[in-house]
Amino acid sequence: MTASLTEPDARPGPLGLPWPATASRTAEGALAVGGVGVHDLAARFGTPLYVVDEADMRARARAFRDAFTAAFADVGAHAEVYYAGKAFLCRAVARWMTQEGLRIDTATLGELTTALSAGVPGAQIGLHGNNKSDEEIELALRSGVGRIVLDSEPEVTRVADAAARLGGRAPVMVRVTTGVHAGGHEFISTAHEDQKFGLSLHAHDGETSPAMRALLAVLAREELDLVGLHSHIGSQILDAAGFDAAAGAVMALRADLAARTGVLVGEVDLGGGFGVAYLPGEVELEPERIAKETAGAVVRAAQETGTSVPDVSFEPGRSIAGPAGLTLYTVGTVKEVALPATSPDGATRLYVSVDGGMSDNIRTALYDARYHAEVVGRASRAPGVLARVVGKHCESGDVVVHDVLLPGDMRAGDLLAVATTGAYGRSMASQYNLVPRPGVVAVRDGVATPIVRRETVEDLLALDLG
Ligand SMILES: *Cc1c(COP(=O)(O)O)cnc(C)c1O
Repeated sequence: MTASLTEPDARPGPLGLPWPATASRTAEGALAVGGVGVHDLAARFGTPLYVVDEADMRARARAFRDAFTAAFADVGAHAEVYYAGKAFLCRAVARWMTQEGLRIDTATLGELTTALSAGVPGAQIGLHGNNKSDEEIELALRSGVGRIVLDSEPEVTRVADAAARLGGRAPVMVRVTTGVHAGGHEFISTAHEDQKFGLSLHAHDGETSPAMRALLAVLAREELDLVGLHSHIGSQILDAAGFDAAAGAVMALRADLAARTGVLVGEVDLGGGFGVAYLPGEVELEPERIAKETAGAVVRAAQETGTSVPDVSFEPGRSIAGPAGLTLYTVGTVKEVALPATSPDGATRLYVSVDGGMSDNIRTALYDARYHAEVVGRASRAPGVLARVVGKHCESGDVVVHDVLLPGDMRAGDLLAVATTGAYGRSMASQYNLVPRPGVVAVRDGVATPIVRRETVEDLLALDLG
């Protein structure tokens, strides 16, 4: 058992992390978010339901923008924050982020079209992807995106040719793999990259690295404007050390390119991956701390390489959307299962089945992710028992929360919420078992506004051509 197990606590008042900022328990013991009670949400929109605390998500976006702007202004540089749309994107979210002064990162035709149709100016959108289609590249160019992040050498030619076809120019960044991989509290640094993203900084043949070759190819094409270098080192990172190492590596490449060609690239993007609290007692990587530490690292690297401090950009996704969201479920079957005598977890485990599962939250099955859950429809005085929250799918791996203490009197009909599902929840949802995907409701100041409609079985049948 690796989860930190917190006794269920239904006392009135604010909940704190890992719950959204406005989440609190009413005197009757029910949870309210954004001033809206969970019974109202369940009655109006049904369950499962993704609930987003709009004020919290906006505040998180502002906190990153303000922290990076201030920390880099202190060292004479300009910083931009791109919200990584893959964490969770719909038109309402794209507008919130734009209103809070962020730009939007996209990686597919669907994400790009969603941001554009929300009215986000092309110049404030970036396009990523390790296997961009011609359609994606052309839409990006036609809508004047601020940058296309090139991920391979063939893409240099493809994007330049597309720009030539359309009679324009393309602003591009080159994504490099620094060999730094981070996640949790640790980072590792390796010379060899065995993954699909980016271009290596290491010259395996002792000559020119793939990253440098791509940069020289970009400079050789007049249709391309080289606007920056890009690095993204991982996810759920709780320490700045990995960003320091990556900044140093990217800055060294920037200096090397300047020495070879006289071109000093204006911007460095250090990606996203800032970690959040998934369980009670965990901490998140604070925007001010990461902004100050990365600004320090970029300045040090500039001094070491004798170059000027570049403008920078960052791409947080999870740390903006994750903690602002929760998933509301209705409990169905509750089953006590006897454990083997040798189990360290005790004599029994309570299996609590909810009306969704791996179709609305695949992260537990995919990454062995840890989550926190509570009964949120009522106060219970029953002592906590070791429970596992499972879904309704035909897989024994259909687990939403591996280990959590839930009140021993859990019963069918209880409302249960899982915290920190705002990122990579709806965006990774599937229709497995032909289960329609839940909708998303934004709550703020006592008002609930659906921002993504719940799917119905009719929606599924509409795709089925018989
Ligand atoms: C996934 C991703 C991000 C966002 O990562 P988070 O962990 O959600 O902050 C940013 N940039 C790139 C290139 C990514 O692939």
